[in-house]
Order: sequence, then structure tokens, then C-alpha cells
Amino acid sequence: KLDFHPAGRHFLQIPGPSPVPDRILRAISYPTIDHRGPEFGALGLKVLAGIKKVFKTQHPVIIYPSSGTGAWEAALSNTLSSGDIVLMYETGHFATLWKKMAEKLGLKPEFLGSPGSDGWRHAVSAQRIEERLRADSGHAIKAVCVVHNETSTGVTSNIAAVRRAIDAANHPALLLVDTISGLASIDYRHDEWGVDVTVSGSQKGLMLPPGIGLNAVSPKAIEASKTAGLRRSFWDWTEIIEMNKTGYWPYTPNTNLLYGLSEALDMILDEGLENVFARHQRLAHACREAVRAWGLEIQCADTDAYSPVLTGVMTPENMDADVVRKTVYERFNMSLGTGLGKVKGRMFRIGHLGDCNDLTLMAALAGCEMGLRLSGVRLAASGVTAAMDYLVSPAGSSALKA
Ligand code: PLP
Repeated sequence: KLDFHPAGRHFLQIPGPSPVPDRILRAISYPTIDHRGPEFGALGLKVLAGIKKVFKTQHPVIIYPSSGTGAWEAALSNTLSSGDIVLMYETGHFATLWKKMAEKLGLKPEFLGSPGSDGWRHAVSAQRIEERLRADSGHAIKAVCVVHNETSTGVTSNIAAVRRAIDAANHPALLLVDTISGLASIDYRHDEWGVDVTVSGSQKGLMLPPGIGLNAVSPKAIEASKTAGLRRSFWDWTEIIEMNKTGYWPYTPNTNLLYGLSEALDMILDEGLENVFARHQRLAHACREAVRAWGLEIQCADTDAYSPVLTGVMTPENMDADVVRKTVYERFNMSLGTGLGKVKGRMFRIGHLGDCNDLTLMAALAGCEMGLRLSGVRLAASGVTAAMDYLVSPAGSSALKA
């Protein structure tokens, strides 16, 4: 509960759901229409064509009325059979949840561990994937599943490198990628990187409320779905892909979220995908400048794997990160992401994704800085000043556009 009656807007600085722009909220409020009527088909075709541009694919993208977890299940159940071995990689909490799901579905996940004893601070090692696939001369491994942007830690993995590793090992495994928190924030190329199924969701870079799950699928994945033995009905791609050809769905789609998606696609494609990516990189850079100035550690230990979407901030040994979050919430009406699973209490997460600009970030950093001070954390210097210095520097100014 807040200590006072809050004026102004709540600051939603968790790494998704991200704030929904007014334009999108207004679009979502239009009257719901007949999902079998003529107007609907035009909307369906528009969003299906637009979302392909965001995934950088020529192939079908399936839109489910689900959260991201549903889209995870759809990816596995459409391509695999009971008992199949899948190679997964422990980048953090979400990779761990996806692995648990694979087990529940009757798959046999093999989990490559997070390298180093500090845990959950590193990106996927493509080399370790290549070594494991080379050792699998009988091709028992049917899929490689990795999380592109690990939302629990703020670590982004190199998917092109994972593709090269699979090719170098000359292995036929499918490549399944979760970019639930990366899509429309970080450069992503479904076709060029040879990804077979990309899983995503609405509530992060797409700036929508939760409630849309996405699968972008390759021809190889569609071929695999013809013989994949896992039971599925609602998630089955076949009928959806067929009906999507005319802009319709076999069930009642979430019409109002599709209005929102249509608006979000207009906003993202008007700004230009590459500009959207550059904006995220720049704000993330400013955020890291702040964390370093405070004298605190960034959760991501690989300097080439910093996430443009969120920054994980480790608190000093004696400081429960959730105490800082609670202070920030109660005093400044701002939500920060909690540490999940293994890193609970050890770090908090600052989201800088979606509808975020210089001043949004500066306000968020000011809230963090004041919250850290109120919680008794001794800061080396002002992170707010360091972030501002970067934003107005020549480097920060030239990074404004792609
Ligand atoms: N994967 C990643 C990387 C996520 O960030 C999330 C949610 O934050 C999920 C999966 C699960 O998605 P949802 O909570 O929409 O079911």
C-alpha cells in the first residue's frame, strides 16, 4: 500500500507487461465486432501481414489468445513427440520454466547448465551446444530450445551463433527460440537465422496488454508438425494457418487486442524497426551507466550480452533487493521487477522497453536512486547524473537513430 494518495501516473518499470500507450488503449476500446463478418477479415489480414515484418519472416505467424506460456506449449506440442530429447539451456528462470513444461509434456529435456559458479549471469554458449550436438551422432536430440532475451536476468543470447553451431555440427535438430521479451525491442531475424519456431507475446516490446501469444513457424517446423506425436487440439497450427489465409480464426479471437495489435504495428513500423532497436540500445546503455555510477553490479556478466530491454541490478550482500523495491513502490508509486527463482532478493530489474523515452528512463532511475538511498544503500556516485551525461553526450546523441 502506498504511504499517500498518489497523484500522476503509476510508473510501470517492470520488464513486461510494459506501459500501454494511450493510442493503443483507445484502439482496444473500440466496439467488439463479429469475428465472422467482413470487417474482421480485413483486420485479421492486416495484423497477420504486419506481425511477419516484426519477426522478419515470410512464413506464417500464429496469433493465439493466450499468454506467452501458451505459445511455449504450442511450439513444443506442434513439433515434437513423447519421449523426444530436447536440448535446453539454463540462462535463468524462464529457461527453467520452459524446461519444466517440456518435462510435463512428456519430453526428455537435457539442460545445459549456466557456466561458472555465479549462475544465471551468462548468455547461451553456442560452443557448448555445438559440442553436445557433435556428440549426438545418432541424432537423438530433436530440438534445441533457447531463450533469446532472458527476462529474469537481463541477458541476451546470440541466436545467429546458435544457428551456426547447429549447422557446424551438421545436426538436423529444430531450433526453437523464446523471444517473448525480445520481439520489437531487439533485432530479431526469424528467417535469416533459420529459426524453426519463434515464441513471443504481446505484453513487452509490442506495448500491448498481456493476452496474445505468438508462434512464427518455418516450413521445416510445419513439416515436423505433420508427424509430431504430442497431443494437441487448441494449439494445433493446421486449421489456424488455413483459416488465417482469409483473415479468420477457427475459434473466437481476442478482437480488441487485435485492434491494439494493429495500432502497435502502425506505431512500430512508422518509427522503423531499426530505430526502435537503436532506442532500446541507447536507453539500456544509459541505465547501465547509472548502475555503474552507483557502484552496484549488473546481473549480466557478459559485456556482449547486455539486454536492451531490462537491466538486472544486484544489491550489496546485506541488502534484500525486495526491500528496495518495496520502498520505491511505497514512496514513489513505481513498480520494479523482482528477482525470480535463484536470484530472489539478490537483485531487482529495471525495465526500459516499449513505450519508453529519455525522460521515462530518467524518472525511473531517479526513483531507483532515491529508493536505494532511503533503504540505506551507500552509493558511490549519482547514477542519475551519469545517465544524463551519456544521453546528452555526442555518443548518446548520435545513437538516437539507427
Ligand atoms: N519467457 C520469457 C522470456 C518471459 O519473459 C515470460 C514472461 O515474462 C514468459 C516466457 C512467460 O510468458 P507469460 O507470462 O506471458 O505466460
